[in-house]
Amino acid sequence: MGCRPLFQGNCGGGEAVDGENKKFWQHKSLSEMSASQWEALCDGCGRCCLHKLEDADTGEIFYTSIACHLLDIHRCHCTAYSNRAKAASDCLVLILQNTEIFSWLPKTCAYRRLFEGRALPPWHPLVSGDPESVHAAGISLRHRAVSDLHVNAQDFENYIIDIDH
Ligand code: SF4
Ligand code: SF4
Repeated sequence: MGCRPLFQGNCGGGEAVDGENKKFWQHKSLSEMSASQWEALCDGCGRCCLHKLEDADTGEIFYTSIACHLLDIHRCHCTAYSNRAKAASDCLVLILQNTEIFSWLPKTCAYRRLFEGRALPPWHPLVSGDPESVHAAGISLRHRAVSDLHVNAQDFENYIIDIDH
């Protein structure tokens, strides 16, 4: 299972997201961002909190529509965010030093986009100025996922989806 990216910087933690830094993602690399900028970069889609299955032969990753039990699916917020790495023992926490995990994130993910040199889309809350835009665009998990509390592990294969389409 995935987990939302964890800030690994060691400086600039109090730097504001507004003012002159309003479009920080256009001129800062991921490693240059402050803690608050790193957090603001998340679009709040919740997609990384879906369970994934890995093909044992090919290593290919398949997304399911089954969300971590700690995700509030309507709000697409983690209910254990500050303690997420410990709260869900099978979560994989993305850090910049572990860059291969970027390829596991959905192609829509803001962290993956910037890591790959792509721009943020119009529906990203930092671009639109509206935190609801990620839901209105149909990118978020709202109305699209089921909690793992309601699905037996042996049935996960039946919930495989194409997350990028
Ligand atoms: S612990 Fe939180 S951030 Fe991690 S997968 Fe679960 S809901 Fe998502
Ligand atoms: S942008 Fe979406 S997929 Fe990426 S970390 Fe945030 S919630 Fe997860």
